[in-house]
Amino acid sequence: MNDMNDMNDMNDMNDMNDMNDQNTSQALIEVQNLRKYFYLNRRETVHAVDDISFDIQPNEILGLVGESGSGKSTLGKTILGLHPKTSGRVYYKNETLPKQYKPADFRRFARTMQMIFQDPYSSLNPRMTIGEIIGEGLKLHTTMASKNIQEKTAEWLEKVGLSSGQMSRYAHEFSGGQRQRIGIARALIVQPEFVICDEPLSALDVSVQAQVVNLLESLKSSMGLTLLFIAHDLSIVRYISDRMAVMYLGSLVEIGPTDQVFFEPKHPYTRLLIDSNPEPDPRQERYKKRETIHGEIASPINIGRGCRFVSRCPKAMKECYEQTPTLEPSHSVDTTKHAVACHLYD
Ligand code: SF4
Repeated sequence: MNDMNDMNDMNDMNDMNDMNDQNTSQALIEVQNLRKYFYLNRRETVHAVDDISFDIQPNEILGLVGESGSGKSTLGKTILGLHPKTSGRVYYKNETLPKQYKPADFRRFARTMQMIFQDPYSSLNPRMTIGEIIGEGLKLHTTMASKNIQEKTAEWLEKVGLSSGQMSRYAHEFSGGQRQRIGIARALIVQPEFVICDEPLSALDVSVQAQVVNLLESLKSSMGLTLLFIAHDLSIVRYISDRMAVMYLGSLVEIGPTDQVFFEPKHPYTRLLIDSNPEPDPRQERYKKRETIHGEIASPINIGRGCRFVSRCPKAMKECYEQTPTLEPSHSVDTTKHAVACHLYD
């Protein structure tokens, strides 16, 4: 109960601060001390996203990795307002985004911020034709005539490698890779500046994954997009991202330029995660010596003091049980900075 009262006080303070708040960062998206808690009952609170801060510069791809249950998707949805924020702030071009979106907020920000969803099978309405699905954003958010919407939809079908003649078909008539292309066209047809890709490749075959990654990369370059690319496949994140952030149990444990994080990981969790990533060459894979992560990710309910990784960390020390490590300032405009939340680097 105390938890809930504290959180309400914190929310009130944030609301008051939001009114006077002025941010002067150069970042396109800035996330400051963002929390998303789910209250199960009076005693139990899920800390899905806990005090996360980072920024994304214009035209940058930030890759976000972490195992299932680490809170990556919840973070993405909270940034876009699909979940109300428990506390903390998200800025878009220095403008504070609402704590809880109203329908008018969705209408306003849908043109500039979009999401590509994980599951290409359930994210498309089976009762609508592909033309209706892709053109819906233009219909809702612009005053474009329906003839122009049809032309634009046909153009986008071609852009994502499908045929404009397929506009009257339904989602079930397409393969997984084709459906993900439809999801991409639906998100990008409104010309957003910022897109969250929530594990867009996880339901696809490896060969199709490469095609979709290449498509996203070329659209990113031609449209000047800024992406938050959520994935659990480290190789893909390494290939596509400018910077890489690692999440564990609701908090950010490491962030930095992709090559630095990938080749010189600092946090023990990042090291183990990279170590468990399969090598593309089967001979190297066979002889690779690797340390594996033992145990399961801990419960995100009522997380207490200390490092969240302590129960699985091979380097845990006494202070790790008592003090929560913090990430060095991660929302500075210095994108070359490599920051880590671990007592080994205090
Ligand atoms: Fe391991 Fe301690 Fe670092 Fe946590 S703070 S990752 S337990 S060494």
